Amino acid sequence: MTEPRVVVVGAGIAGLVSALQLAHQGLPVTLVEAAGGPGGKVRQLVVGGVPVDSGPTVFTMRWVFDQIFESVGTQLETELRIAPLAVLARHVWDDGSQLDLFADRQQSIDAIAQLAGSAEAQRFNHFCDTARKVYDTLEGPFIRSPSPTMGQMMSGLGPRGLGVLASIGPLRSLWDSLGQHFKDQRLRQLFARYATYCGSSPWQAPATLMLIAQVEMAGVWSVQGGMHALAQCLARLAARAGVVFRYNTPCEGIALSHGRVSGVRLAQGEVLAAERVVFNGDIAALRAGLLGQSLIPAVPRKAAPRSLSAVTWSMRAHVRGLALDRHNVFFRADYASEFDDIFKHGRLPRQPTVYVCAQDRGTGPSPDGPERLLCLVNAPAAGDRDTLSEQALAQCEEASFSLLRRCGLTLQMESDSCLRTTPSDFHRLFPATGGALYGQATHGWMAAFSRPNAQSPIPGLVLAGGSVHPGPGVPMAAMSGQLAAAAVMASLPSTSRSRRMATSGGTSTR
Ligand SMILES: Cc1cc2nc3c(=O)[nH]c(=O)nc-3n(C[C@H](O)[C@H](O)[C@H](O)COP(=O)(O)OP(=O)(O)OC[C@H]3O[C@@H](n4cnc5c(N)ncnc54)[C@H](O)[C@@H]3O)c2cc1C
Repeated sequence: MTEPRVVVVGAGIAGLVSALQLAHQGLPVTLVEAAGGPGGKVRQLVVGGVPVDSGPTVFTMRWVFDQIFESVGTQLETELRIAPLAVLARHVWDDGSQLDLFADRQQSIDAIAQLAGSAEAQRFNHFCDTARKVYDTLEGPFIRSPSPTMGQMMSGLGPRGLGVLASIGPLRSLWDSLGQHFKDQRLRQLFARYATYCGSSPWQAPATLMLIAQVEMAGVWSVQGGMHALAQCLARLAARAGVVFRYNTPCEGIALSHGRVSGVRLAQGEVLAAERVVFNGDIAALRAGLLGQSLIPAVPRKAAPRSLSAVTWSMRAHVRGLALDRHNVFFRADYASEFDDIFKHGRLPRQPTVYVCAQDRGTGPSPDGPERLLCLVNAPAAGDRDTLSEQALAQCEEASFSLLRRCGLTLQMESDSCLRTTPSDFHRLFPATGGALYGQATHGWMAAFSRPNAQSPIPGLVLAGGSVHPGPGVPMAAMSGQLAAAAVMASLPSTSRSRRMATSGGTSTR
């Protein structure tokens, strides 16, 4: 019997995971990727001769990767060196206050008591319990479910789950709900920022996103070699399992025959025949017809608002003054204006919050020479409009670095040791997105249910990535890759499927 051929378009985390799991189960898989290597947003830039992680830096939910590696007969720790971080993040405000959150809850409680008093520390303790309950309530019926609907989820929650959701006021925004938990505005701001992990405004994101706090409090890990090492590792395992990689190979179209996927068209006119295609680009590209007019119905017609983009500076610099940890966030008092600027006015924030990842810190002695940093501020996904002028970018840069200086941090760069990436650059890398890095914004209670599932309405076309359920972030995209692999397997004739399960041990999507 001829094997169904699979082409995976895109070597982002989801594309890599689905290619790996499908090849492990014996399917012939070719992966085509526009860029010169794997990772997509999990990218590394070479600055002053050294590689700097310039995409995601916070590695959470390691159990997702434990399961993926086990599903292909290996273990995360056999393939990668990872270490838990004792300090989850250092938070600094321009009024001079500072707070570390720790992996150990009691240490965080003590630190909060010092910052804001023991009553606030008790409120934090209660918040941790609530965030954990929200996470536990939604993990099964939403995060792990291949195609959750609001109705199914509600009926699956049971009285206890419904009680948990009712207690946070699910129709409230994250910002409003946090107002019930914290009196200290700095803590409210700190936990509201988790909405930006899926590219959203705390003022519009649903209260349920407080589950991200639990995700982080359950452990943040550092990966030796940086997050990019994770992408390289998945690519290495996939190649070992038989995936044929074709880098620098943009896919220009997905071909249909009698309404079913029949292959992909590559840039130089070459056609690769395939019975199944896993598309790992942003679904905005399908909606815009970039992969062919006949592919437009593959995704919901109505586009939800785009998520956040970013301006990033990848650099090598001498760090003076304030002691950095691995993950550092610099806040100012007026948080709302950042999201008004971005989501209401579509402009760069005049008062940005600045995230600094000091990648050489957190697991050993602090470096004495120049070190690798990624600085990031949120930005509107307007990289396909000409509203983000060079002058606006320069102002944003000045506002960002002057905040760091006000907080006591000085960065001294040598020439040619800083690379800036703007929403326009992200738009070029991730077509049709305007530079949005997290798919659609999670604004409103229903937003999480409006992402498409792996199984598209076009036979043979499967979707994977941060713009697809369960959403953005490295572990979520990885889960989406698993769901895509499972959807491909489920679409095979039953004889072929059972033969494969018997020979490979199957794919775990638990
Ligand atoms: C600056 C930044 C910071 C972030 N921080 C974090 C963080 O700390 N923690 C976290 O968990 N997440 C973070 N994220 C989000 C996380 O990186 C993404 O959600 C996740 O990596 C997305 O993976 P994906 O599978 O959707 O693929 P993507 O990374 O979107 O990759 C898609 C790939 O498909 C390729 N492609 C698209 N169209 C085509 C085509 N037509 N032909 C060929 N190839 C194509 C692209 O070139 C790309 O390589 C961050 C992202 C960025 C950019």
